[in-house]
Amino acid sequence: MKVLLHDMNWPEAKEYFAKNDIAIVPVGSNEQHGPANPLGTDHLIARGIAEEVAKRTGVVCLQVIPFGVSSHHKQFWGTVSISPRVLKEYVKEVCLSLKYYGVRRIVVVNGHGGNLAALSEMARELREEDVFVSIFQWWPATAKLLPELFSEEERRHAAAEETSLNLILHPKLVDMKKTVDEKPQKSRLQMEGTTLPFGTADETTSGAFGKTTTASATKGKKDFEAIATQLAKHVKLLKEAKMEDLLQKPKV
Ligand SMILES: [Zn+2]
Repeated sequence: MKVLLHDMNWPEAKEYFAKNDIAIVPVGSNEQHGPANPLGTDHLIARGIAEEVAKRTGVVCLQVIPFGVSSHHKQFWGTVSISPRVLKEYVKEVCLSLKYYGVRRIVVVNGHGGNLAALSEMARELREEDVFVSIFQWWPATAKLLPELFSEEERRHAAAEETSLNLILHPKLVDMKKTVDEKPQKSRLQMEGTTLPFGTADETTSGAFGKTTTASATKGKKDFEAIATQLAKHVKLLKEAKMEDLLQKPKV
């Protein structure tokens, strides 16, 4: 049984959607990840996780949506960014295309934190249309599930954890010789309670935050397995959930 929608022909898609109302949609970004990691890191990892879980659960997985909200990285070459509004509408229309075939449950596997606000807003809007969208992000999951595997400075943007996942999923795209450890500059304005519009170029020269040199495929393997197990568990729970518990409540 195929699980990638783009690999199926339409009769196979018809057969799947006749029996299933759930799908997985990976979303990421194309943005700088320091000198050692590919620009595609966020969407390549989202795709890798989503496709693995599709195989484990038999839930159909779409092509990854590669572009996201990344303007805060633009000073580093090759970053491609779209606005939160465009991301929200684009992913929403993808989900509504699935609704036409009866899909009511969608797991968005988001590989880039900058997308979260737009995707959360989209999920609320789609619930108005009787489509329940959950958003899964791997890094808050691993911080809780494997607190010992990476330190806080290894869990930051383009640091050891992301690099380790790249080493598992697409090792040829990582250049370990170019990994750096860079402590980001913090503005004096940064304090409890403030949110400031600084970008990556204000804080780093390499584009990588924290410690990257400690990345390894061994750690990546452990990390990836924990992520895939967790997401597969979530997909299964969403599949089994009663639709009445997912739909909006009526007014009181
Ligand atoms: Zn990333």
